[in-house]
Amino acid sequence: MTTGMPGKVCSSCGRLSSQYVEFKCPKCGEGVITRCDECRMTYTRYRCDKCGFEGP
Ligand SMILES: [Zn+2]
Ligand SMILES: [Zn+2]
Repeated sequence: MTTGMPGKVCSSCGRLSSQYVEFKCPKCGEGVITRCDECRMTYTRYRCDKCGFEGP
């Protein structure tokens, strides 16, 4: 793996972003949602990998 470029892939849009927030799924508390700044601002839907929960 290459390091040096900070960032994560957004759960909503799938783009690599260095401006992101990470939080646990509000439903199952296990899945970790990564959301870029843009999706956070535009309230793009995300989906939890673990339980399939979708939410803003
Ligand atoms: Zn995004
Ligand atoms: Zn979940």
